[in-house]
Order: sequence, then C-alpha cells, then structure tokens
Amino acid sequence: MGKKPLSERADERTTATMDATRSRIMRAVKSSNTGPERALRRALHARGFRFRLNDASLPGAPDIVLPRWRAVIFVHGCFWHRHDCPRGARTPATNVDYWTRKLSRNAERDRENAKALRALGWRVRIVWECELKPIDGAANAAARWLRRATPTRRGHR
Ligand SMILES: [Zn+2]
Repeated sequence: MGKKPLSERADERTTATMDATRSRIMRAVKSSNTGPERALRRALHARGFRFRLNDASLPGAPDIVLPRWRAVIFVHGCFWHRHDCPRGARTPATNVDYWTRKLSRNAERDRENAKALRALGWRVRIVWECELKPIDGAANAAARWLRRATPTRRGHR
C-alpha cells in the first residue's frame, strides 16, 4: 500500500470513528440479542426449557417462544417499554414531545401485541430488564409461571 495523502488518512480516521459510533447505536437499538435477554434464555435453558427465538410470524415477534408451554416471553428494556420503575419513568431532557410520543407508542403496541397473542391462545409474560439482576429470581419465577400450564405434546402454533 502506498503512502496516502494526509487528508485521506484523516478521512479514514473519521470514518472509523463514525462506524464505531454507528454500531454502538445499532447495538443499543437492536433489542433482540441484548445481555438481559441472553441471560434469561440461558437460565431457562439450564432449567430444561426449549424454545424458539424472535418468531416473526407471531404478533410482536416475541423474544422467547415456548410452544410446548403455549407461552411467549418478552424481555423488555424498562426505558423503551415504559416500565413502572425509576428507569422506565425517565424521559430524556431534550425533544420531550418526540420521546413521550415514541415511548407511549411503544407501550401501546406492546399492549396490542399481548392482546393479539392471547387471542391466538398464547400465554404472555413480560420480563423487565430491572428484574433480571440477579437472574435467578426472574428465571425461577418465569419457570414457575411456565409450569402452571400442562405441556402439550405437539406444541402450539
Ligand atoms: Zn424496570
């Protein structure tokens, strides 16, 4: 590789910084593979549950789908889904109208998805991010909730 002019090298540095920032933002936005969700999946798996992930054919593409237990679990970030906890009550100081609208819309959509899923015969559980530390309490509670149903042999569609 030849020596590049200074200005071009500066451009590359800027681009690299932008890419890093962008991917950091994308990671934050993409909620499907977050740490808390992975932790709950691991904990449920360790307790013998088997599941599908992010089934896009179901309303709201639930994070964890357990056909055998006719159950779906959403792992929700407190801020994005308006949990009734200190983190969920936070509204950014700037663009207040935008955020209020956006977060209310999220919460509204969550309610609609849950209703649609129940109408299809699914049990629906929301696990909040703030409930996952430590993980065991939340995983045990979810496991108890799952086992409240009699497992089906063929699974639920
Ligand atoms: Zn919370």
